[in-house]
Amino acid sequence: MDYPTTPALADRYTALIKTQWDHIHNPQSTTGLFDGMEEGASFFDGSWIILDEKHTRLFNHMFSNNNSTNHTYIDKVDKAKARNSEVKYIDLNYSEKEYKEWVNQWKVRTASSDEVVERIILKIKGASGGKKIDTLNLATKGIYVGKFKIDGVEFPVAIYSEKSTISNLKKVQVAEISDLEKEENRKHLRIEETNIKYLILAFYEDNNPVPSLLIQVEKFGIDLIEKTKVLWLNELKVLKRIVRSPTYMLPLRNNEYRGYSSGYRKPTSATYGCTRYNKNYDCDKNEVYGDKPHHGVDLKAEIGDSCFAVADGVVTFVGNINGYGKCIAILCDLKNKFTDKEEKLYTFYAHLSRITVKHKQKVEKGDFIGEAGVTGAEFLLSRPNEIHLHFEIIERWWPKGFTDRKDPENYINILKPKN
Ligand SMILES: [Zn+2]
Repeated sequence: MDYPTTPALADRYTALIKTQWDHIHNPQSTTGLFDGMEEGASFFDGSWIILDEKHTRLFNHMFSNNNSTNHTYIDKVDKAKARNSEVKYIDLNYSEKEYKEWVNQWKVRTASSDEVVERIILKIKGASGGKKIDTLNLATKGIYVGKFKIDGVEFPVAIYSEKSTISNLKKVQVAEISDLEKEENRKHLRIEETNIKYLILAFYEDNNPVPSLLIQVEKFGIDLIEKTKVLWLNELKVLKRIVRSPTYMLPLRNNEYRGYSSGYRKPTSATYGCTRYNKNYDCDKNEVYGDKPHHGVDLKAEIGDSCFAVADGVVTFVGNINGYGKCIAILCDLKNKFTDKEEKLYTFYAHLSRITVKHKQKVEKGDFIGEAGVTGAEFLLSRPNEIHLHFEIIERWWPKGFTDRKDPENYINILKPKN
């Protein structure tokens, strides 16, 4: 297991942790929690705030009472409907005095049930990208609770509406999650998440700076953190399915050789099988005494870049290895681009800053498995232009030998650096 002990640092590239979330929304309540976190805090400088402090309290309340281990409101709705189908809503059982009055304006709609939640989700899902979502008719300001199943996982969901009729929602569709941060897209859809609690999707009507519809979804365990977001964006068809080659996937979004910036270095540096003769890994001369061959490819990366499994497989190693730093090995069947045959091989990712998979975990092609970094090669911190993901394909793993490397280019496509 290799989870970071400093979540503030480790998660600054991916998600808000609970304390950051609370601090942004309610700074007074978290005085003293930000020791050493200033950098992480400034990273999010203002751009995440769509919900006010009161909403955050409401969401926390709904989460506490409506998550996978506590279905208080979902159960209450079922009971109310069984007892008396005329009951229109249930008051929030909210104990905090200060916000009681405000919170009491919100009601859990008994009309809400798994089917209503599903109807709203299906409507969003059914709208095509860039088009208007059909009018959503909801009851007055209220919260709908229910459960929604994706890929066998049942998510407790709360849907908040500020209006009875929502009519001008534009369906955003993007190729990558990062595109949702573009200004044009943020006018229509924004996503906020806490590291361990919930994910919120906020939908805006045209020219309305306040979201008209909010979907709150529980996030699951540490290994599903990244997946929860992707699952939901895929389910709502916000994320266009990534067009993947049937034979290979990529370890990074952009797989380009890490060429070195020293000018005279050849663009062939850092390829598989070249020979290092000095610390700059120049591959020009192969027969210098003391050379160490380079067994993988170095792919351009920045610290924190997402790394992905290139094929379905099982994680067979997670840990630290001298020179490689934090690394992952995944045993998988890889299709050789040239012979078109599948081979049982280890894919190996090194110098990671963060690992999000566990030993023996099954992974699928395209799964997020960790983030690029400089571990095992910390000298790269002083050479930011040379930071990379070291990627290898290995036939035999320890204890048998950790030998018999393959040329990764037989299995994945790598971009040549631009000259
Ligand atoms: Zn390397």
